Amino acid sequence: MSQLSDAFLRSWQTVECPLCGIENDAQLASVVRGDAILCRGCHAQIRLIDGDSSVSAAMNQADAAMKQLRSTVSRIRL
Ligand SMILES: [Zn+2]
Repeated sequence: MSQLSDAFLRSWQTVECPLCGIENDAQLASVVRGDAILCRGCHAQIRLIDGDSSVSAAMNQADAAMKQLRSTVSRIRL
């Protein structure tokens, strides 16, 4: 996995509790793993699901962009 993917997975997102509406912080890695977090408001367990695989897709796009960039950089190296 690239450094960009690692940085992406370590980034935090706000997740709104479906029960009380309070915003909680969740790391994207937790979303990819399908972890559960405890709501800091009502203490409900919130299952993090990347339902439409948008997190995984964004990660793959980031990896592809980095590979493209590396390829471009190696071609212009003198
Ligand atoms: Zn809550």
